[in-house]
Amino acid sequence: MARYTVAIVGAGPAGYFAAQALQNMQSDELTFSIDIFERLPTPWGLVRSGVAPDHPKIKTVSKVFEKVATAGNVRLFANVELGSDISLQDLKVAYDAVVIATGSSIGKKLGIPGEDLPGSISAATFVPWYNAHPDFKDESVDLSTSTAIVIGAGNVAMDVARMLALEPTELDPTDTADHAIDVFKESAVRTVIISARRGAEHAAFTSPELRELPKLEHTNVIIEKSDIAAALIRAGENIEKDVKSNLEAMALIADQVPAGHERTMKFQFLATPKEIRGRDKVEEVIFTKTGTDEEFSIKCGLVITAIGYEATLLEGVDFEQGKVKNTDGRVGENLYVVGWAKRGPSGVIGTNKSDSSDVMKLLVEDLNNPKPHSDIADRLNSALVITQSQWETINAAEVAAGESKGKPRHKAVAWDDLLHLGGL
Ligand SMILES: Cc1cc2nc3c(=O)[nH]c(=O)nc-3n(C[C@H](O)[C@H](O)[C@H](O)COP(=O)(O)OP(=O)(O)OC[C@H]3O[C@@H](n4cnc5c(N)ncnc54)[C@H](O)[C@@H]3O)c2cc1C
Repeated sequence: MARYTVAIVGAGPAGYFAAQALQNMQSDELTFSIDIFERLPTPWGLVRSGVAPDHPKIKTVSKVFEKVATAGNVRLFANVELGSDISLQDLKVAYDAVVIATGSSIGKKLGIPGEDLPGSISAATFVPWYNAHPDFKDESVDLSTSTAIVIGAGNVAMDVARMLALEPTELDPTDTADHAIDVFKESAVRTVIISARRGAEHAAFTSPELRELPKLEHTNVIIEKSDIAAALIRAGENIEKDVKSNLEAMALIADQVPAGHERTMKFQFLATPKEIRGRDKVEEVIFTKTGTDEEFSIKCGLVITAIGYEATLLEGVDFEQGKVKNTDGRVGENLYVVGWAKRGPSGVIGTNKSDSSDVMKLLVEDLNNPKPHSDIADRLNSALVITQSQWETINAAEVAAGESKGKPRHKAVAWDDLLHLGGL
């Protein structure tokens, strides 16, 4: 029987699905000891710090992650960062194979003048701020403007717009960070414009998310019928299934009579942002009608860009186009990549399952004889590591703290508080 050691770096969906795929490939002849390293004191990646708090069902996938984590052959080393606490070289020496699953968390930039003005922020800051990511707890988010523009045409843009346009008491029974709920409750934002560079037929929203929008109880959701009619003409007769389903979902929204709520979320298509203007902070966005020189301007005090993410660089790893350079997930000798670090920021949580599984099949194909065992745990300062059982203590404490408030969990936000809950 051969027992191999595998290090997975990043405890997000791709990392857990990689571990699960290895578990599923075990047999009488082949077994794995899997160590998962995570820079935060908490696992689950974007399921904790990305997925919108008003969509709690999506987060139940964490039960799958916990099952993988407690199957007997997986150890968690959280609060351990590749690059500072441990090097790739350390892992390559100690393990038979190393899997990078570090995701993609840097917000892409528009590259237009005014983008760095106060009042212009990336979804890569705004989302982890409202989701209690410890690195973003001190961001100052100013919602004192009546109009906000969200630039982007994917589900992240939709999440951001929805969070801004919700009646904030709807966030009380969610795990939104307290500091964010306070700011949302004081928010002056009443109109949120989601602005897409291309037509509705090219939008990357997914139809289940679009179909949720009309259910918002306190927000008008507006799509112009003419935008959808024009998109249908442009899409033509050979329209793809997903595009058709998206346009149908948008047409349903367009058919709705606005209900006269105080808050409005409005879709704008074929608008290319050209410049963000303002004296000391954002005051307006200048757009051109995409494909023309025709300019128009919208006054607003907040711009949030949600136009994609790039991966953070890792020492000793080549990157191209914001992703780890790889061939089908192979990066180098006994080194692999999965998830958003491999593919870039696309696909839902489930996409990472088949992707990780495909890459782990290659990993198994490539295995040689197991290396002599050397336990990396001996080299880490145990006083700084959050293990699976310590994470379970944090998890239980957060869930218990949420219970009395009618929330699925009440997240600890400060790094020290999380460590403290974990007994460090
Ligand atoms: C705002 C937002 C909302 C989303 N909403 C949904 C949704 O509703 N439904 C859906 O299906 N999908 C959703 N997604 C997509 C989904 O979250 C991704 O498909 C998935 O999280 C990608 O998994 P991953 O493991 O590659 O990356 P991540 O989830 O980002 O996990 C990467 C992990 O690696 C860790 N890490 C990074 N660098 C290091 C390092 N140097 N050392 C150690 N650890 C490190 C990170 O802390 C993180 O925990 C959303 C994504 C975003 C951004």
